[in-house]
Amino acid sequence: MTLTVRAAAKVNLALGVGGPRPDGFHDLDTVYQAIGLYDDVTVADAAAWGVEVRPVGEVDCSGVPLDDDNLAVRAGRLLAEHHGVRRAAHLVVDKGIPVAGGLAGGSADAAAALVALDRLWELHTTDEDLLALAARLGSDVPFALLGGTVRGTGRGEVVEVLPATASCWWVVVPSGEGLSTPAVYRELDRLRPDAGPPAPPTALVAALAAGDVTRVGELLANDLQPAALSLRPELAAEADRLRDVHAGPVLLSGSGPTLLAYAASHADATATRLGLAEAGVSALVAPGPVAGVHVVEPVR
Ligand code: ATP
Repeated sequence: MTLTVRAAAKVNLALGVGGPRPDGFHDLDTVYQAIGLYDDVTVADAAAWGVEVRPVGEVDCSGVPLDDDNLAVRAGRLLAEHHGVRRAAHLVVDKGIPVAGGLAGGSADAAAALVALDRLWELHTTDEDLLALAARLGSDVPFALLGGTVRGTGRGEVVEVLPATASCWWVVVPSGEGLSTPAVYRELDRLRPDAGPPAPPTALVAALAAGDVTRVGELLANDLQPAALSLRPELAAEADRLRDVHAGPVLLSGSGPTLLAYAASHADATATRLGLAEAGVSALVAPGPVAGVHVVEPVR
């Protein structure tokens, strides 16, 4: 028997980053949003752990580990260990989320693997335990379980679902080569040695609750942007090229290097994507917010 679970990419509508903590992490105050780019994780019982990654569309999967470092495998092993079950699984990841782009595809796969194996093995893990296991796997993984629009504090793993009514569209512009998330945080610490606590996204949370799509666009913010630009100066020109074809807000996704254009309608997002295509740049269009991990019937 196999079972397929779908998980979405994330963007950060606001990403406030504090100074480094004694444990090496940074305090965050962020607003996550799940957007309509997906990885599907299909699981089946097996004698030993294994993972296969298949690209969907133009996604370059060459940077994804195919051993125990794969986050989906780590998630599966952690779940088995939590329940004391001696079982293994073969995982197939159909990857539609660009890799190492600040879209948390690895975290999505970890969340999907947790839920898929919980269902396959009928473990009935409580939501509380799933969130706790997710937090051990990575700061973004609890959010990937939930989807929607969520405030994240702590190192991002303390999640609070927001009553967000504003829906929007994103133009996602992947970059050729990924950026290492730890390297971007190190660069931020170098640029801002005396950083205080992260700024709370109070006005953004209010605009989301009010469904004010325009105001949400005005309040998009990412503290990691200067650090990513410092490590990858070409990103400034890429952002300018995006602004040439997009009248609305433009933002770096998480630790980058993916760039995002925010649009109020599908028509506006598609116009931007077509403008980029004329300049020889490929981009994806995705709605936000979308659901967190859920079981699906595979289409192939
Ligand atoms: P972060 O979540 O740290 O912001 P990201 O969104 O920039 O990361 P991911 O696509 O999650 O990027 O991948 C980051 C790195 O994680 C990859 O370069 C890869 O080495 C590793 N990785 C481990 N497992 C996976 C997985 N299942 N899918 C993608 N990357 C994975």
